[in-house]
Amino acid sequence: MDDVLILGEIKEGALDPRSLELIAIGEKLAEDLGSNLSILVLGDSPANAAAEASSYGPAKVYSITHSLLKDFQPEIWLAALEKACQEIKPAVFLMSHSFMGRELGPRLACRLGARLTTDCIDLAVDPQDKLLLRTKPVSGGNAIAVFKCPGPLQMATVRGKVFSPVERTEGHAEVVEINVQLDQNMAKVTSLEIVKEEVVALDKADVVISGGAGLGEKEGFEILEDLRKVLSKTFGSVMIGCSRVAVDKGWISSDHQVGLTGTMISPDIYVAIGISGAIQHLVGMVHSKKIIAINTDASCNMFKVADYGVVEDYEKIIPALITKLEDRS
Ligand SMILES: Cc1cc2nc3c(=O)[nH]c(=O)nc-3n(C[C@H](O)[C@H](O)[C@H](O)COP(=O)(O)OP(=O)(O)OC[C@H]3O[C@@H](n4cnc5c(N)ncnc54)[C@H](O)[C@@H]3O)c2cc1C
Repeated sequence: MDDVLILGEIKEGALDPRSLELIAIGEKLAEDLGSNLSILVLGDSPANAAAEASSYGPAKVYSITHSLLKDFQPEIWLAALEKACQEIKPAVFLMSHSFMGRELGPRLACRLGARLTTDCIDLAVDPQDKLLLRTKPVSGGNAIAVFKCPGPLQMATVRGKVFSPVERTEGHAEVVEINVQLDQNMAKVTSLEIVKEEVVALDKADVVISGGAGLGEKEGFEILEDLRKVLSKTFGSVMIGCSRVAVDKGWISSDHQVGLTGTMISPDIYVAIGISGAIQHLVGMVHSKKIIAINTDASCNMFKVADYGVVEDYEKIIPALITKLEDRS
């Protein structure tokens, strides 16, 4: 077999949205390789997720069902994935650069003798030799490099929010069950408790209003908050984001940071206020559907990616915008 295989992660019984992004890039690679896309799901009862996966247009869905796969135990999951890869023999195996992908990817590559590239922001097939071209930020995000590695199994983890998720199709692919022998003694680490962290889920917002150094002071975020409240009357979920400088200055907490070392987002609307558009910021929001920039400097980078731009002091434009929006509602 020379399929492109992706790991479909299951969250609360359904496929994680990041896996839908993986399917999108997996489909493109399969087309370029002239092969098929398959999805692998694992769990103690992955039947629903497998059925869901089969509706996103893969050639096949592989499913591993085992009671020991109920919780995430890395060594047990590794053993299951190793067996699956040996049986399926994919040409390419992709995982999300999620907690799970980061934990399992390098260890699985080592077991299978493959070379893995982590945290890829783009993937393509080299038409000459059909090897994977793996694009990722390097040198602390100051450069972007493209890697190519030899070997029959090409492996990568893919950063979230870089590719648009696939839509469901009419068809339903065959679900193939893979049997694995797993033993609790394989586990070297056991999690005692899973604590859900309360963080700002910027990547779930419909609209993100971000402030940067151009706000001049912490209080600038109060003006952004006023805008957020007004927009919340029209849009489902409106959240406040920021640049790293705003975090470094202590104006706002780091879970609001957008960018390379913050959160990668692609909301319907991104409003960049007093943000110059450094590459490390752009990489985190450039896939937003509509970008609106407000900046006093007409030559700043943010205007180069913006759909709409206002060259003005934010302290003048935002209050005027709020008044206008309130008048309309
Ligand atoms: C390894 C590494 C990782 C990084 N990761 C990130 C990251 O994840 N996210 C991130 O954001 N940055 C990151 N950075 C930092 C990044 O390089 C920039 O320094 C940062 O994004 C700049 O923030 P800024 O646009 O708010 O500030 P500035 O570049 O100082 O821009 C401020 C802007 O505000 C405008 N302005 C000034 N006054 C007003 C006003 N009254 N009204 C409207 N506009 C005004 C100015 O014209 C200017 O364009 C990283 C850097 C490195 C080296």
